[in-house]
This record gives sequence, C-alpha cells and structure tokens, in this order.
Amino acid sequence: MKFNEFNLKPELIHTLDDMGFEEPTPIQQQAIPHALEGRDVIGQAQTGTGKTAAFGLPMLNKIHNNNKGIQGIVIAPTRELAIQVQEEIFRLGKDVRARVFTVYGGTSIQKQIERIKRNHPQIIVGTPGRVLDLINRRVLNLKDIETVILDEADEMLNMGFIDDIKAIIQKTPATRQTLLFSATMPPAIKKLGEQFLTDAIHVKI
Ligand code: AMP
Repeated sequence: MKFNEFNLKPELIHTLDDMGFEEPTPIQQQAIPHALEGRDVIGQAQTGTGKTAAFGLPMLNKIHNNNKGIQGIVIAPTRELAIQVQEEIFRLGKDVRARVFTVYGGTSIQKQIERIKRNHPQIIVGTPGRVLDLINRRVLNLKDIETVILDEADEMLNMGFIDDIKAIIQKTPATRQTLLFSATMPPAIKKLGEQFLTDAIHVKI
C-alpha cells in the first residue's frame, strides 16, 4: 500500500515523498488509519519499526497552524529518545510547518523556559520529570492539547516514571486523543491503558 491511501494532509504526503518513504511499515499500516479516525491506540512495537511516524503522522495531521498553543505532547523515557523523536517529527512536519521543541532534565530549565516563551512550540517532546516541572511552573499550558503520546511506555514504567506520567495526563484535556506505544505489554501497561485511554484499539506487530 501507499501513504496516499491514508487520509493525510497533502503536505504530509509531500514530505514523506521527499523523505523517500515509499510504503508504510506494518505498524504504520495498522495504527495510522485508527489514529486518523480519532481513536485511542495502544501499539506494541519495538524501535526501528517506524513507530515514530506511526504516532507522529496522526498528531501532525491535526496541527492547526493558526494556533500558537501546544497541541501535541510526546512523553519519552530518556533524553536520547526524546531528541530522536523530536528530530523525526520535525522532519515529518516540514511541510505542515509544525514547531516542535524538546525538553529534558539534566540541563538548564531556564534556557528551556526562555525558548518555549519565545518560540511557541506546537508540539513538545520530553522526558516525564522535566515536562511535569514545566507544567507546574505554568510554562507549558495544556489547554489546547489534542494529542498525548506515550512512547516506550514500558521503559518509562521500569524507570519509575509512573506517577509523573499519570500527573501529566491528568492535566491534559479529557477530550484528548491518547496513543500509547510500548515494546512489551506487562499488566502495569495494560492498567495504564485502561485508566487513561478510551475504547482503545490494540495493534501489534
Ligand atoms: P523508528 O522505529 O520510528 O525509530 O524508525 C526507524 C527508522 O525508519 C527511522 O530512521 C525512520 O526515519 C525510518 N522509517 C520510518 N518509517 C519508514 C517508512 N515507511 N519507510 C522508510 N523508512 C521509514
């Protein structure tokens, strides 16, 4: 199949073409149609399967250019992954012109605050502790959030981020779409899915 069989904005199809993505990967084929319909999705997939575009494209498809607010948030377990996800979403968002910004701990929060205030990112990719800190400092305003993505949820649980993740999700609008990706599906992940996702579709590769 081809990307233009999905109901994606022409700008995204154009970018995918430029990037040389010819065919959706299996996780993209399974997850993207449901996510584009607005469904909550639980995706079981490892790194390297194209999972970033599987959740990134549906999120980018909903970005409203004329809204300066934060419309999508991706929570990832590590700084390295957050940077990697931000780079991929930035590339995918080239023609829809989404402003994407990464936040993570272990580095000056003040500089991140200044850049957020100056640049008005529409998508935030970050690690749980720093994201929560910026929410609590009222730097990240979540009122316009339409999409929340948990990436490598099992890793985040293993690293002890469960309370931060719950606190973040609880501060987002109830109308949000939530996409949860995880390499494994232990009971704690299933429970998280039941607690915060609505009528979720499960896809697995
Ligand atoms: P990920 O699993 O999201 O880390 O993606 C792994 C790599 O595959 C990244 O370098 C992506 O840019 C690339 N990729 C993702 N989807 C596709 C696709 N449909 N066609 C070609 N490359 C892809």
